[in-house]
Amino acid sequence: ATPTSIMAGSGRAAEFGILFKGGEYLESTQGVEVVVFDKTGTVTNGKPVLTDVIPNAPLTESSLLRMTAAVEKHSEHPLADAIVTEAIERSKGLPLPIAKEFANMPGYGVTAWVEGRKMLVGTRRLMSEHGVTLGSAHEDMNKLEAMGKTAMLIAVDGKYAGMIAVADTIKETSKEAVNRLKEMGIDVIMITGDNKRTAAAIATQAGISNVLAEILPEGKAEEVRKLQHAGKVVAMVGDGINDAPALATADIGMAVGTGTDVAMEAADITLMRGDLNAVADAIVMSRRTMRNIK
Ligand code: ADP
Ligand code: MG
Repeated sequence: ATPTSIMAGSGRAAEFGILFKGGEYLESTQGVEVVVFDKTGTVTNGKPVLTDVIPNAPLTESSLLRMTAAVEKHSEHPLADAIVTEAIERSKGLPLPIAKEFANMPGYGVTAWVEGRKMLVGTRRLMSEHGVTLGSAHEDMNKLEAMGKTAMLIAVDGKYAGMIAVADTIKETSKEAVNRLKEMGIDVIMITGDNKRTAAAIATQAGISNVLAEILPEGKAEEVRKLQHAGKVVAMVGDGINDAPALATADIGMAVGTGTDVAMEAADITLMRGDLNAVADAIVMSRRTMRNIK
């Protein structure tokens, strides 16, 4: 590899919004055999909007939403944004209750005290670990998830209090980008902390048939390692704090530039556009650069 051709290649890539952190990545990206995509904010727009509020009586829809939003106000998760935005909109100027002792449990959900009551917001696993029984809520949740929505369960003082669902949309270009990679002979996998049903619904829309769901943040890196042990050269594409370990573990980490700084720091390449076509572009540019090197 001549320094001149690497420099020219890096410059050309930069014009397309593909920033290689070093020449070595422009050289190695051509060898990628498997691309692992994070779901939220990577395959999808990552801007979920609230779709359903289902309170468990005697709680009302508005008090469930307001109390949950009070907790989520302290979270930076895109799911939290959807809840807070809608709650503020519906509250018509009435301030949200105050939440104390907020804690984030990555991959599970959040907790805090609101108006003297202990709130839990998150996954089935979060509820079962705290001994919260769901009863018939399971079926409501399954239905929402089959539609590709993410449903979050809420418990107040250890009792099931309702659920709130949000829907994220896939990026217009995700399906096309996935197709290009497949045509290049590259395996495509989607990985997410979200539940299996929602993940499957989103993956189908994007044309991805290999899905790993309900993976905790540290588990994402482990899945990348498994693929590497199977002899594959793996690229990981993600945007979130919880993708950082996997981005660092992968042979090539690609951060979606519309995401978090933590992801960009952990990655080898930053994709300035949210469009996943940049992944195929990066591989094509690397292949071309290496072919030009005599
Ligand atoms: P992803 O891989 O899609 O970014 P995460 O690993 O961040 O997902 O989260 C996995 C699951 O944990 C979410 O689908 C949600 O059910 C729950 N969760 C995470 N953060 C929150 C939050 N702030 N409020 C409620 N639920 C949350
Ligand atoms: Mg994400």
